[in-house]
Amino acid sequence: MSDKPTAVIIGAGFTGCALAYDLTLRGFAVTVVDRGEICNGTSGRTHGLLHSGARYCVNDPEAALECIKENIILRRIARQCIEFNQGFFLAITDEELAFKDEFQKGAEEAGIPVRWMNAKEILTLEPAINPGVLGGFEVPDGSFDPLRLALAFAASAKNRGARFMAYHEVDSIHVNGQSTVDFITMIDRTTGLNIDLHADIFINACGAWAGHIASLAGVDVPVIPCPGVMVAFNKRMTERVLNRLSLPGDGDIIIPQRRMSVIGTTSFEVSDADYIPVDHDQVKTMVNRAVEMIPAIDKVGIRASYMSARPLIQTNSDARSLSRTFKCFDHQAANNIRGFVTITGGKATTCRMMAEKTADVVCAQLGINAPCFTAETELAPYRTFYSEQVTQ
Ligand SMILES: Cc1cc2nc3c(=O)[nH]c(=O)nc-3n(C[C@H](O)[C@H](O)[C@H](O)COP(=O)(O)OP(=O)(O)OC[C@H]3O[C@@H](n4cnc5c(N)ncnc54)[C@H](O)[C@@H]3O)c2cc1C
Repeated sequence: MSDKPTAVIIGAGFTGCALAYDLTLRGFAVTVVDRGEICNGTSGRTHGLLHSGARYCVNDPEAALECIKENIILRRIARQCIEFNQGFFLAITDEELAFKDEFQKGAEEAGIPVRWMNAKEILTLEPAINPGVLGGFEVPDGSFDPLRLALAFAASAKNRGARFMAYHEVDSIHVNGQSTVDFITMIDRTTGLNIDLHADIFINACGAWAGHIASLAGVDVPVIPCPGVMVAFNKRMTERVLNRLSLPGDGDIIIPQRRMSVIGTTSFEVSDADYIPVDHDQVKTMVNRAVEMIPAIDKVGIRASYMSARPLIQTNSDARSLSRTFKCFDHQAANNIRGFVTITGGKATTCRMMAEKTADVVCAQLGINAPCFTAETELAPYRTFYSEQVTQ
């Protein structure tokens, strides 16, 4: 029997995989369970922008600071998953041009390096962009491969002994008379059998489903699933990520992903994150918005349209203005339930930081003093997750 502290993470998206890596580095024996495969949830259907933070630098400075900090760290530890292709924030209308100074001030305050370029410079680098462009900022955005990013964290965790249990759906959380989570019950979806899992601590990393999982332990976590649509076109039209020089809105980012260009996205609230049909009016809006940035894009054909739901923390705002930051809920401090923590909200770009803050709370609940090392070491090759023997 190992004398390591034991942790069970529910959810194998970016957050759960990054947390598994962090906790194994801090000396935990970790098990990750998911009702599907790795990236079964939102992480498997994300847009793939390694945010520089510029998108949030005017209206959501906390998220902007988190993004630029993690952008720099991920470029170092997850090079294998990232294309260092940079991005533009383009002024196509006079209104966008008038936003220039406010944007530059916000970027400077967040420490995001930006450089103004005139239309000729932009069109020389990216001839497919709308020739009517009025100018734009170059920013340190990038594209990342979603599955590879999650697998690289998971492989690094597995390398240190973490166990991953796919197709295990948690359906109850058992809190004992001392207000401590004793064990969870899962259904093995391949056999239909129930399995109990005991641990010193349980972490709910279920993203848009975190509210439901928390409710199984009788606590309230105010997460709103906010879906968005993405439309992938059959051709890579630019090398760089393209954004509109404005506050975040619908259809204002085109990301080159391998040989495709993917436009996104929308943002609205739903109550059920399990069934989000693709709305064809939203697809039409995406195509029209993409044409504004790249006029020839509608000639190359649509490869796919898809939806997924952001886990956004509830405030009194509408879906577009909810902050893109994250929150770790310490249920011992907030609800007097020991052995239980929830992490939700945030972005793929900030998953390592989310894991660090959560592992700090986990260690504090268990009285363990162990620092975080995830910002320093390069992740294991993503392919090795499926190897018998994982090597670093
Ligand atoms: C349209 C859209 C575009 C986005 N684009 C970007 C982007 O370009 N850049 C960026 O940085 N971020 C982006 N994001 C945000 C990012 O994708 C999410 O923040 C991130 O994927 C959330 O990861 P997660 O691990 O917290 O949740 P998830 O990936 O959803 O993982 C939760 C897991 O919990 C599991 N689960 C649920 N219920 C149970 C249960 N009962 N038992 C066991 N397991 C369960 C699910 O199967 C799932 O695998 C985007 C989000 C959306 C919606």
